[in-house]
Amino acid sequence: MIILKTQKELSAMREAGRISNQALLEAGKHIRAGMTTKELDRILHDFILSKGAKPSFLGYAGFPGTACISINNEVIHGIPGSRKIQDGDIVSIDVGAYYKGFHGDNAYTFAVGQISPETQRLLDVTKESLYKGIAAAVPGARIGDVAYAVQSYVEQAGFAVVRKYVGHGVGANLHESPEVPNFGKPGRGVRLVPGMTIAIEPMVNLVGADVKVQPDGWTVLTASGSPSAHFEHTIAITEHGPVILTDPE
Ligand code: MG
Repeated sequence: MIILKTQKELSAMREAGRISNQALLEAGKHIRAGMTTKELDRILHDFILSKGAKPSFLGYAGFPGTACISINNEVIHGIPGSRKIQDGDIVSIDVGAYYKGFHGDNAYTFAVGQISPETQRLLDVTKESLYKGIAAAVPGARIGDVAYAVQSYVEQAGFAVVRKYVGHGVGANLHESPEVPNFGKPGRGVRLVPGMTIAIEPMVNLVGADVKVQPDGWTVLTASGSPSAHFEHTIAITEHGPVILTDPE
């Protein structure tokens, strides 16, 4: 069942989204070579608490961190720990905040130091594919239109969208209906109507769509060993078009 939100609920979601995005920006300010992913996670944790919110992911299905922090060939769900971030790494941070009864959910892949032009293009294309997906999320369109907008943009650039993991509805629950895949056909799937709130989150591999899960049961890696990028926003479908809720303002 898809839960539509009232105007008042959307206002609360906007506050949760703002805190989620500010947390991500805070991490971006502090991320540097030599720090551990656990140290970075602690910054996110303390920031979210300082805003009177709660980390959405901490304890979710037993997840032990505030954020999922995934490096290079790690796609998503990396567990914060003793691994040190190195110069030339790309670091995907996925974080959510729960505030006034609602979740915000967003992700960003940061480059630390100097990265290769090819990896930079992976980041640029993945980020832009998110905005292509958002632009397609207008009332009356379907989930397949959003999915196709992401997929077609990524594939014309020569990269591969991950199919095993998808975006999702978000609201009072971190994961709600519908699923929001990053691949699909235009005109197919659930119709978008005002009041729907979804997280669009392209996960894009430099080489090949296949992924595998680490023995830790969480960390998802590219099967090819190539780098992977991840960008996400929580958005609301409104009668005036898509509105990004995970905005800093
Ligand atoms: Mg998400």
